Amino acid sequence: MSRSPYLLLTCEHASNALPPVFSDIVPPSILKTHRAFDRGAQTLFSILRPLSAAAFQARYTRLLIDLNRSPDNEELFSRYTRHLSSHQKEALIAGYYRPFREQVREAAEKIEQEHGRVLHVSVHSFTPILRGKKRDVDVGFLYDPARPNETELAKHWIKDLTRMEPGLVLRRNHPYRGVDDGHTTELRKQVGARYAGVELELNQRFVRNPKRLHAIGLALRQSLSAQVGR
Ligand SMILES: [Zn+2]
Repeated sequence: MSRSPYLLLTCEHASNALPPVFSDIVPPSILKTHRAFDRGAQTLFSILRPLSAAAFQARYTRLLIDLNRSPDNEELFSRYTRHLSSHQKEALIAGYYRPFREQVREAAEKIEQEHGRVLHVSVHSFTPILRGKKRDVDVGFLYDPARPNETELAKHWIKDLTRMEPGLVLRRNHPYRGVDDGHTTELRKQVGARYAGVELELNQRFVRNPKRLHAIGLALRQSLSAQVGR
């Protein structure tokens, strides 16, 4: 395994922490739930990280401000921050949102200029049961099917991972669609045609079994390593 000059990694929902100035804005009981962060995503991000040229993870909970939503998305702020004054909201955007988005965009543009392409993997996880309904996917690969580079990447990555982990249920654009608002959708517009972005969505059921989570992480890393070497 070697580092790829093309690979950019992000983990927008890595953390359930709050900065000291907003320490009482979300109840502690809520901070422990999947609403506050993507359980297991940080572990997966750490496993994939040695492959990447640049890697960025959120320091704070999505319930403060959601780094995976566009500024005009009404889900940018959560029920705990929606009621804040416009001055406070602007402080959240300037203090936490914009620095993260700008760092990632700059890294993506630098990689694109220096190496002619950029491959971005945005690492996430989803709750196995949503509104009483069980989700029957283990790993989802979210991308824009209208973009040939992303379609090819997902196709080969899934093929290689299936060979290594035949028991996993892998699906494209499930449980969400790759064209829905997110960090990758924004970067497609900002960086252009030589950008390929995939949002990886891991089922949080594996978090209960750290050994299994680690094994899946290693298989994802090995299969991703084959893609960045193409
Ligand atoms: Zn997420």
